[in-house]
Amino acid sequence: MQYDTDKLIKSLRSLTCPACDAKKAADNTFCKKCYKQLRPPQRHALYQSAGSPGYGIAFDVAIDALGVTSPVWPEPADQPEPIT
Ligand SMILES: [Zn+2]
Repeated sequence: MQYDTDKLIKSLRSLTCPACDAKKAADNTFCKKCYKQLRPPQRHALYQSAGSPGYGIAFDVAIDALGVTSPVWPEPADQPEPIT
């Protein structure tokens, strides 16, 4: 599954690990614990511009490798209310 670029960038800049909801450093994709579980090629793939299609693919591969089916996204503060 491909994730929304906006979500990926917001997640990258946030302090929440999208895989386990733990604290992470801003500009790191995952927290240290999750990052360590990735294989080296999966880690290297994350070192590209968050807006590039390659990053989206790398994120997808990594989150799958971590066994996460629904990533944790930062609060969408600027999201309009869903119409019900
Ligand atoms: Zn984590």
